Amino acid sequence: MMTTKAPKMFGHADGNSFYCSVETIYKPWLREGPVIVASNNDICAIAMNKPAKALDIKMGTILSDLTDLIRENRIATFSSNYELYGEVSSRMMRHFSQYVDRMEVYSIDEAFLDLTGFQNNGLEKYGREIVRSTARNIRMPICLGIAPTKALAKAANKLAKTDIDRKGLYIIDSDSDRVEALKELAIADVWGIGDSYEELLLREGVENAYQFSCMPQKWVRKKMTVMGERLWMELNGVSCLELEMMLPDKKEVCTSRAFRHTVTEFEELQAAVVRYLDSCARKLRKQGSCAQTLYVMIRTDNRKDKWKECFRSLKMELPFPTHTTSELIPYGIELLKKLYPRYRPGQYKYEFRKAEVTLGKLVPENARQANIYDTTDPVYRQKMERLQQVVDEVNGGLNLDSRYLRMGAEITKSNYTALQRNMLSENPLSNWDNRILIGQCV
Ligand SMILES: [Mg+2]
Repeated sequence: MMTTKAPKMFGHADGNSFYCSVETIYKPWLREGPVIVASNNDICAIAMNKPAKALDIKMGTILSDLTDLIRENRIATFSSNYELYGEVSSRMMRHFSQYVDRMEVYSIDEAFLDLTGFQNNGLEKYGREIVRSTARNIRMPICLGIAPTKALAKAANKLAKTDIDRKGLYIIDSDSDRVEALKELAIADVWGIGDSYEELLLREGVENAYQFSCMPQKWVRKKMTVMGERLWMELNGVSCLELEMMLPDKKEVCTSRAFRHTVTEFEELQAAVVRYLDSCARKLRKQGSCAQTLYVMIRTDNRKDKWKECFRSLKMELPFPTHTTSELIPYGIELLKKLYPRYRPGQYKYEFRKAEVTLGKLVPENARQANIYDTTDPVYRQKMERLQQVVDEVNGGLNLDSRYLRMGAEITKSNYTALQRNMLSENPLSNWDNRILIGQCV
């Protein structure tokens, strides 16, 4: 007997100017005006809302070049507050999950929703309700694209963002809709088309998504590999990308950041390496894995004069797979000691700007194997792991720069390697000191 499956339907939900919108949740008076969110160390703009984009501020513009523009247009500028964005993101995802049985969290502000089965059952009404309730309950304006494939849903979302009349919802549920939508979508805006494919397709005279979908399949496969072919099929309405429900565990974890100021002294670099090591180890404890290798890198800025440039890195095998910060730190410092240049008196000291720590070759924490080179007392190790659990509980969901408990080596006189966040907004969701006072008992 033949069984006919109901045709699939995907929704792609995406927060509008997510970081900027989060910043205005607790400051609604800023909502209509221009808002910018700055990168780490407040160096350049990484997110702009619509009014800020209208002032021709581009992603990556250096903030100090915008001083006059910011003052003249009263642009609200914020340091990036990733704990707050993460909190709002998980609230938004939980909100979406009330509407569908299956969903894929695609990024901090995007999710694919399984809307199969709603085709004949008020898809538009349901989609409209998701958009409206997210704005009402989470205070997050979103756009929702709905279509029979993931790539088409993503395209529909893009169009929902540009066409104000659609009020945040764009549905593709017939072939004529599909053709109409793809004709409106520039080739550069198609999901998965990077700069090099864009160039290749423009050379072939392909300017929009519809023209791409009309290219011969064989040509696409030959020039753009099987991934390009999959995208081509998806745009032609053949679903070949499934929802990825579970995020696969990471294969390695890395923390890499530029410093607020360049540093020359060993203690300053040590503070950064210890802090990044704790950040990596925390990520490992969260996913229940232990690392078997440790990599440390330090570098100066990219400069034109070669003699001032220095890039050094080292990697080592750990004697026992671990995710305990205190156990990892001596190894991190040992590597750094080997990396740190030995200066002769009076010699020019390198101005280091960045450090990176990577923990790799991960194994599940309950599948660790003993090693004959491991000399640590197992009872001592258990005690340290218990202590670590207490530290994690105290620090809770706080991010790297606002933890209550930290290692002594992280704190130096100048604190030049700590992140600069002079325009940080408050976080009433996870910081007790930032809670909002609604009324007071007398
Ligand atoms: Mg977005």
